[in-house]
Amino acid sequence: MSAAQLLHDERSESKGWFRRAVEVMPGGVNSPVRAFKAVGGTPPFVASATGPYLTTVDGDDLIDLIASWGALILGHAHPAVVTAVEEAARRGTSFGLPTSQEVELAELIVSLVPSIEVVRMVNSGTEATASAVRVARAATAKSGIVKFAGCYHGHADPFLVRAGSGVATLGEPDSPGVPAATVADTRLARFNDLESVERAFAGGDIAAVIVEPVAGNMGVVPPASGFLNGLRELCDRWGAILIFDEVMTGFRVARGGAQERYGVTPDLTCLGKVVAGGTPAAAYGGSEDLMRRVAPDGPVYQAGTLAGNPLAVAAGLACLRHLVEHPELYDELEALGARLESRVSAALEEHGVAGCVQRVGAMFTVFFGPDLVRSWDEAATVDRDRFARFFHAAYRRGVLLAPSPFESLFLMEAHTAVIDEVAETLAAAVGEAR
Ligand SMILES: *Cc1c(COP(=O)(O)O)cnc(C)c1O
Repeated sequence: MSAAQLLHDERSESKGWFRRAVEVMPGGVNSPVRAFKAVGGTPPFVASATGPYLTTVDGDDLIDLIASWGALILGHAHPAVVTAVEEAARRGTSFGLPTSQEVELAELIVSLVPSIEVVRMVNSGTEATASAVRVARAATAKSGIVKFAGCYHGHADPFLVRAGSGVATLGEPDSPGVPAATVADTRLARFNDLESVERAFAGGDIAAVIVEPVAGNMGVVPPASGFLNGLRELCDRWGAILIFDEVMTGFRVARGGAQERYGVTPDLTCLGKVVAGGTPAAAYGGSEDLMRRVAPDGPVYQAGTLAGNPLAVAAGLACLRHLVEHPELYDELEALGARLESRVSAALEEHGVAGCVQRVGAMFTVFFGPDLVRSWDEAATVDRDRFARFFHAAYRRGVLLAPSPFESLFLMEAHTAVIDEVAETLAAAVGEAR
């Protein structure tokens, strides 16, 4: 049976699991976009995955472009990562005391990410951004933060304003349960629009600007020339902290992240996803001056029972060491991305389908409708129905896309062998989605 039939066959094992899941979990999932509400149908349940392939409980093999929402850059079950985690598990899964591997990982992060001198491990990107903002507010004795419509910084209260993909997909601009007072300090600006940032600063009391230096949670939106530099200048002029949320872009758009790729140095950086090699961990870091304010060096409290967990640290170390040993990987990913981009762009043209492919390195989005997307208001104009048809057409041909038009798709080292198949599949899916 083909993948498509299985997605829609009531007898499939995935459907059976999903029916059980919705009884006991909100939407049947542990993170909203996984419920496939934006594309229709129900999610395939994963049995296992290796390299570029994901195998469902129905026995289907799909080439995976979700890549754990960007957490994977090598491939599924990469041998170096699996071995490291196995060995770590045998030594014990959690201690609540320091380990030598944590030091090695911290040293590696400091050596790779230009702006980070001191780093703290946490468990999720959500914690990293919430903690970074706390440090910024403590350092400046101000409360306001500037965030960009369409940028996602995890689900902590202060960020749940125009928060991009997951929230946008559900059509909820905000979340109930977030007190108005909590988001009153959050000023919205428009991505790639420095004047909107100046207006936010003019209101006064801004502690920090937080930005995805390449937006990935409204689909991929690259920073316009001068935008990141402009943010740096505005923050310096107003005495505010510049926070790069590189949870998605870190070790992804360049080994040293967007700050290396674009040559702009933030004060604080949030990392997640790739930093933990596909396990649950994240980090935030920055200058000595700022990070020494964190407890117990300073008074800014932030802690974690499982922070620096040995399994996650082992996976992160194995992944980052692979990236260090294979510096050529970034050129290769760039080439894979370029190949895909040109094939899919050509398909849009051939089939007379309005839209564009936006890509930075190994992250890309096919936008149906607009021919250029620079900010959330432009991203929001996409043709959602056409995207849903595109998604299902690709799925039927064995390629799994993120089930929302406002997501980035990710290339991994393991896609090298299948890149032409992916390109042809997406090109055909564009034709079918017309
Ligand atoms: C994924 C993501 C987060 C949230 O990370 P979680 O680990 O899901 O909490 C924050 N910021 C950006 C830019 C992300 O892509």
